[in-house]
Amino acid sequence: MFNKKAQLMKRDEIRKVQEEKMLKMVKYAYDNVPMYKRRFKNEGITPKDIKSLDDVHKVPFTVKDDLRDHYPYGILAVNKDDVVRFHASSGTTGKPTVVSYTRNDMDTWNDLMARCYSTAGVEPSDIVQNAYGYGLFTGGLGFHQGAEELGCSVLPTSTGNTKKQIQMMKDFQTSVLACTPSYAIYLAEAAQKHGFDPREDFNLRVGMFGAEPWSEEARTSIQDSFGLNAQDVYGMSELYGPGVAVECPEQNGLHIWGDEFYVETIDPNTGEVLPEGEKGEMVFTMLSREAMPLLRYRTKDIATIEYEECECGRYHPKIKRIEGRSDDMLIVGGVNVFPSQIEEALLETEGIGEHYQIIVDRDVLDKLFVRVEVDREYYDSDEYDEEELLGRTSENITAILNIKARVKLLEPGTLPRTVGKAKRVVDLREEEDRIEEI
Ligand code: ADP
Ligand code: ZN
Repeated sequence: MFNKKAQLMKRDEIRKVQEEKMLKMVKYAYDNVPMYKRRFKNEGITPKDIKSLDDVHKVPFTVKDDLRDHYPYGILAVNKDDVVRFHASSGTTGKPTVVSYTRNDMDTWNDLMARCYSTAGVEPSDIVQNAYGYGLFTGGLGFHQGAEELGCSVLPTSTGNTKKQIQMMKDFQTSVLACTPSYAIYLAEAAQKHGFDPREDFNLRVGMFGAEPWSEEARTSIQDSFGLNAQDVYGMSELYGPGVAVECPEQNGLHIWGDEFYVETIDPNTGEVLPEGEKGEMVFTMLSREAMPLLRYRTKDIATIEYEECECGRYHPKIKRIEGRSDDMLIVGGVNVFPSQIEEALLETEGIGEHYQIIVDRDVLDKLFVRVEVDREYYDSDEYDEEELLGRTSENITAILNIKARVKLLEPGTLPRTVGKAKRVVDLREEEDRIEEI
């Protein structure tokens, strides 16, 4: 087990380390980042007012816009000379968010990622094929460094070039696949199309899948296609990158490394801290980030966190399930809709495949459209009954959402595939053109 001591810390040890590091970090951020000093002054507090973890709620939140406001170098607590790496997140809206790392930050990140691999069941003897995108996105290098840190052999294939990817998977007898879950599903499909039997021809044992939400049904499908254990990995560039939390073999939640991250859940509307075990927006304080300290960073990710000891023996708090992002939530005709709820409904519907798209549009009222591919096997079989499947799919969606959606069934392979994170929601309400037909 990699860094066994950290992985098996007891609950009270974790709390103790969190408190020690928290008090130091609050002072460090206040002393070295003008933004924090200003914020504390505005609130009328100083680091001395934070005496224990019970006082953390007094610390003002940090939000993504704070990082954007500090473009290009980000929130820096150190001299630029001490920065050894920059990353930046996609920035589909506005300026990219830049994050920075000192040498020590890199060591911490690598250690966390190596712990994640180890928790997921990866061994130093494994060959890791890393199909996360390399570059400014933290996924590629994060998964790469962590595997090296653990002592694995890494094949840095990056995203794309699917045919070559599959051939290498066979030739190298890759044992661990790291990529987004949507790309894993695509790889399985593509392998079959090229005449491979993913269970027979490949040697995959463990999948390190993350960077986007995915469902229990998607897990089952990936596990069945490749014959591997599909483990969920959570992170975001602001919090080093991937490696914040990972699933243990129990596959019933993701352990957050409590000695490096202090997590709270808040009501996303009021900012109020919620009692343990209640669903809300996760807020993280990084306990030893040097280059870019983040106090109470609002992730916008909605989840429930559990604090009991896990069957695996770890006490690090567990994210039960990431429900989606508060900013992904669609309000359709006044009803809150998470894309993950639609996915859940679709995956419960026998005969439906894994690829779908959600479209929201408006004429007088909001309208919700769901385009979804039929399962290949069912589509090709004599039993395929389009009308019946359409009825069942619509019913299942209405049962979960309490609103109606117009569903269109598509031939398998029709929707565009992605090599990175899937883009599943199209909101046309602010656009000029209306959709007539889906
Ligand atoms: P961006 O997508 O903003 O460029 P990141 O690549 O850092 O930045 O993405 C981080 C976000 O990705 C998280 O806040 C979360 O919404 C999502 N994410 C990452 N890992 C997972 C996961 N395992 N499950 C669900 N969502 C995830
Ligand atoms: Zn566990």
